[in-house]
Amino acid sequence: MDRFNRLPQKLRKLTRETKAERTLYCNPGYSRVHDIRIASFFIELLRRFRKSPKNIDSMAWTSSGSSNAELIDNMLRNGILGKVVGDVVDGNKSEAECASDRIARAMKKVDRANYVRDKRDAYEDSPQTIGHGATISAPHMHAYAASHLLPYLPPGGRVLDVGSGSGYLSAVLYHLIEDPHGHKPSSSDSGAKSKPLIIGIEHVSELTDWSISNLKHDGLGEALEKGQIEMVTGDGRLGYPPNAPYDAIHVGAAAPELPQALVDQLAPGGRMFIPIGTYKQNIYHIDKDESGKITQTEVMGVRYVPLTDRKSQEEH
Ligand code: SAH
Repeated sequence: MDRFNRLPQKLRKLTRETKAERTLYCNPGYSRVHDIRIASFFIELLRRFRKSPKNIDSMAWTSSGSSNAELIDNMLRNGILGKVVGDVVDGNKSEAECASDRIARAMKKVDRANYVRDKRDAYEDSPQTIGHGATISAPHMHAYAASHLLPYLPPGGRVLDVGSGSGYLSAVLYHLIEDPHGHKPSSSDSGAKSKPLIIGIEHVSELTDWSISNLKHDGLGEALEKGQIEMVTGDGRLGYPPNAPYDAIHVGAAAPELPQALVDQLAPGGRMFIPIGTYKQNIYHIDKDESGKITQTEVMGVRYVPLTDRKSQEEH
């Protein structure tokens, strides 16, 4: 009697006895353990798959447009820009509506076509490779980051964008700080260089240079000249001490664990938005209260490129 016939009757009934199946079941390496392993693999896969719409808004990927304005309007319509309850009240609009209007206004000032390698896909709601093992994140992820940080962007505040890549989110964050209610930052009045409002830190120098030229193409040459935006090359895991503390820190790459230097550089009352994890990654809010107490809140599951060293990134 071969191994197929030794299978439990129920299983034999369920199994069409093709030649291929017989070969599988008659393989000396075959055992029930294999069945269990294969089944667990698929159950795990299903579990992860089922989890993702809960983690990332199921509408998130349906916002692509044929222009920048259409992409933003689609995100607005899909509720992606309205997830936050901020401290902004404007007439009789709800706080969430005000917040989403502000984000939409800032995102419309940033033309994604100036920050991608392939302009044909500029208004797709998906990530796009920017070389050196990096990607520009999907617009809905940038929108989430902006909305989660919005209440922590006071006029004239300081923001650190770690893993600034294309420079896209640094530009959006600049416009949010620049335009809380249509005002310009005070340092623009004097024309003098002052402490930057936005620091983008990126460890691939070619990407830093590219992000600067992207920002210039997008009309932010003056803000760079005045030092309101500064894009630097460095290891973002160490933060950027010269301009610390920061009211908001955005981390655009997944850290294996929370970098202490970034926690130290967060201002009291500030928030960090950071993906943490290797295979399984989640966005966390790291909130520091006025007394310096840290609260860590898991927000959603994501997939980011790792926050690492340049060599490992390019081998990835
Ligand atoms: N938010 C950016 C980039 C996202 S990809 C955008 O949307 O364009 C993540 C970026 O983090 C990449 O550009 C990568 O080069 C950078 N990065 C990874 N590890 C880093 C580190 N240790 N320090 C600084 N930047 C890092």
